[in-house]
This record gives sequence, structure tokens and C-alpha cells, in this order.
Amino acid sequence: MRETKGQTLVHCPQCGENKVKNHAPAIFQVLMLVGVLMCFTIEGIPFGIAFIIGAIISKKSKARLKFTCQECKHSFKVQEQVYEEYSQYLKAN
Ligand SMILES: [Zn+2]
Repeated sequence: MRETKGQTLVHCPQCGENKVKNHAPAIFQVLMLVGVLMCFTIEGIPFGIAFIIGAIISKKSKARLKFTCQECKHSFKVQEQVYEEYSQYLKAN
């Protein structure tokens, strides 16, 4: 059985470190949370829906492929396939 470790899949192209951070899950959660909270008031529902749609779009957009290295603060993008493996790892843990 092949052992997959998400953090070892993505390396910083500049310094080679694997201490990289992907902001997409956090952005998705914040947009979702704000959207759901806004739906608690009648006036907020249209805005809430807009935020929820934004959250879904952020999950599909290429922006989610962006990583930031925590060692040298270098920002870089990974291939979609690499990101999928990375997110599979996050889900499995
Ligand atoms: Zn780096």
C-alpha cells in the first residue's frame, strides 16, 4: 500500500520545503459561514446566497491551486492533479 502524505506532495519550488499552506479551505469556510449567518435575517438572504455561491465558486476556481511557503513566503501554484491529491489527503485525515 502506498502511503500518501499531503504535506510531502507539495513542495516550495524556491526552497524545496514542504511547509506550505493552501488558503482555499479557509476561504471556503469563511464565505460559507458568513453566507449561512446572513440567511438568518430576511434582508440578509440575497447576500447570504451570494456568499454561498461565492464559496462554491472559490472551490472550483483556479485560485484554490495557490499555495504559500511558510519558510520563505514564496507563493506558487500547483497542478490541478497535485491539488486533488493534496485535498484527498486532507479529507482522509
Ligand atoms: Zn519556500
